[in-house]
Amino acid sequence: MRDDLTQTLYNDFPALYTGMCWGFETGNGWYQIIRCLSISINNIIASASLDPSQFTAVQVKEKFGLLRVYISTTNNAIQDAIYHAVQESSRTCEMCGGPGVQIARGGWMRVSCEPCEAERVRIRRKDTRRYNRRDSGTMEVE
Ligand SMILES: [Zn+2]
Repeated sequence: MRDDLTQTLYNDFPALYTGMCWGFETGNGWYQIIRCLSISINNIIASASLDPSQFTAVQVKEKFGLLRVYISTTNNAIQDAIYHAVQESSRTCEMCGGPGVQIARGGWMRVSCEPCEAERVRIRRKDTRRYNRRDSGTMEVE
């Protein structure tokens, strides 16, 4: 995730994200999902008068095409909130945040919309061409 978005989440939810070593290992498109989830978790903690320092995110990342959120301590309400965020991620493009579908390709799962997927494939083709050129001294022409 982009640095400015990461910093905004850190600033807005300092207790929750005090122990994050790796940042948010997702695309920018899931920022709103993570933000909504953070608000839900804060509300759950506040409404039950729990100690916020007990509830810190350990890791937030994409795995097998879905959002994964690991919290140091959880309860049923927090698990529920995380579950809903994961469901939301399964239909939200990880790149742009628009409506997306799960795509499985080459052993990788991701959630993407059509334009983002087309762009990703285009960039990868270009990278492959560049690699081939460097590797073999020849240039592939499509
Ligand atoms: Zn997209």
